[in-house]
Amino acid sequence: MTRVAGVATTRLSARLHTPFVTALRRTTTVDTVVVRVTDSDGVTGWGEAPQVWQVTGESLAGAEACLEGPLAAVVTGRSVEDLAATCRAVQHAVAGNHGAKAALDVALHDLAARRQGLSLPRFLGTDVHRLPTDVTLAAGDAGTLAATAGQRVGDGFEVLKMKVGTDAATDVARVLAVREAVGPDVSLRLDANQGWTPREAVTVVSALEDAGAAVELVEQPVPAADLDGLAWVTARVGTPVMADESVYGLRDLVEVIRRRAADHVNVKLAKCGGLSVGRALLDLAHAHGMGTIVGSMMESPLGVGAAASLAAAAGTTLVPDLDAAWWLAASPFHGGLSYDGASVVLPDTAGLGVEGLR
Ligand SMILES: [Mg+2]
Repeated sequence: MTRVAGVATTRLSARLHTPFVTALRRTTTVDTVVVRVTDSDGVTGWGEAPQVWQVTGESLAGAEACLEGPLAAVVTGRSVEDLAATCRAVQHAVAGNHGAKAALDVALHDLAARRQGLSLPRFLGTDVHRLPTDVTLAAGDAGTLAATAGQRVGDGFEVLKMKVGTDAATDVARVLAVREAVGPDVSLRLDANQGWTPREAVTVVSALEDAGAAVELVEQPVPAADLDGLAWVTARVGTPVMADESVYGLRDLVEVIRRRAADHVNVKLAKCGGLSVGRALLDLAHAHGMGTIVGSMMESPLGVGAAASLAAAAGTTLVPDLDAAWWLAASPFHGGLSYDGASVVLPDTAGLGVEGLR
């Protein structure tokens, strides 16, 4: 029987070609923990746990400690053929630590797919290896945003994501500046990252509706824990509202559905902890008529590749949010996901297609 032989971690810091700026931070690197799971035949699977201090609270040091400690202990010695049971054991090994769990879950799936000689999308049941993605505009003033938006449309992107929620007084003007710059045919989605009160959210979104901004959706307008506030906003604006930080796992999504607190949900592996949970979230949302995207944190081609594979296999109702690795000046890996204009391209080679660090 082939068994899981070991779990190893490596820190990775990869430079961006353009600084990534949000209400909460400015960064010029993607910082992540790469995990490699090796089986007793010497086959290796890859995954990653990104540093996400401002959202999930997870750090590189915490992810390393979790992966090398309790998560390594629970998988080492298990049969690699028993993927579902091993991934369930990972989910139940520790509380929280969703990014570390997702890293190991993805690495175990990558390993299993490689053993069968299948790409991760094919292993998950689809032959789709190319998906469209949105691109985020780094936070800035109206003029800078309008100029950047024009460049991104020139790069081929048809769906732009704007960070708002920094200053309710100027959010409307900045969104309208971008809309004017890109014209009516580009989709414009907003992410407030919990930055508004419920009343501010209704005021800003209503003003955008009145001004004809034609916003596709507004993501996480209010603080994650304020589901009453989220439902209050959703009931009062015509623009679809998407839950992101409010939904980590299935219990959260059930509560959002029960309260009709949002129209859409953004599923991320670093919040839900693994591919099976991610798929269950998408299936549950679709069964209840919710719109969906799959997104990621600031991650490398490993984590974005896993998210793209999930989006390809489960399907999403809206263009996914898979631009994180687009921001990298160069891929830190040999092989793996790449970008072609506004498309994410997954290699049709074994697993995630990552063959080593550069
Ligand atoms: Mg978001």
